[in-house]
Amino acid sequence: MNFKALILNLDYTPVAICTVQRAFLLVYLRKAILLEANSTFALHTVNETYSMPSVIKLNRYVDIPYKKVVLNRDNIFKRDGFTCQYCGNTKELTLDHLVPKAKGGKTTWNNLITACKTCNSKKGNASLEETGLLLNIKPYRPSYIMYLKDLSGNNYEEWKPYLDTKNIRVA
Ligand SMILES: [Zn+2]
Repeated sequence: MNFKALILNLDYTPVAICTVQRAFLLVYLRKAILLEANSTFALHTVNETYSMPSVIKLNRYVDIPYKKVVLNRDNIFKRDGFTCQYCGNTKELTLDHLVPKAKGGKTTWNNLITACKTCNSKKGNASLEETGLLLNIKPYRPSYIMYLKDLSGNNYEEWKPYLDTKNIRVA
């Protein structure tokens, strides 16, 4: 299995996700310390058993340039929980421009929404007001932290406290 580890900066802010092998190496080279080990699995060599890193913290502060989540179909779906934001359908998903392209609507986080085929065609080239469709969320640009959180799914219990935005100090 391909396990991943969460890398935290010196101040505990999440910076990246890497393979367990890389995390192990960073700890081994003393560039990072192990904060949380995978609770179920361990790494085995012929003679030894090592904890499998799940969360590691870097030993020095690294300046991370502001990371943007790439605007694409998959990431819009991910932001919207793979659910039509009009009716809650989870099948036959498409991207809908809130302000239709034909009316000058842009391809941006704020103008794109996950919509099922039915709602999308109901909406057509009309604006929201014209169709009377109700939107579940106000579309937004997800933060990198939120994106990491989504990626973590339910498989990484150990990550949760570190990805909880309440615990994250914003520099
Ligand atoms: Zn729908």
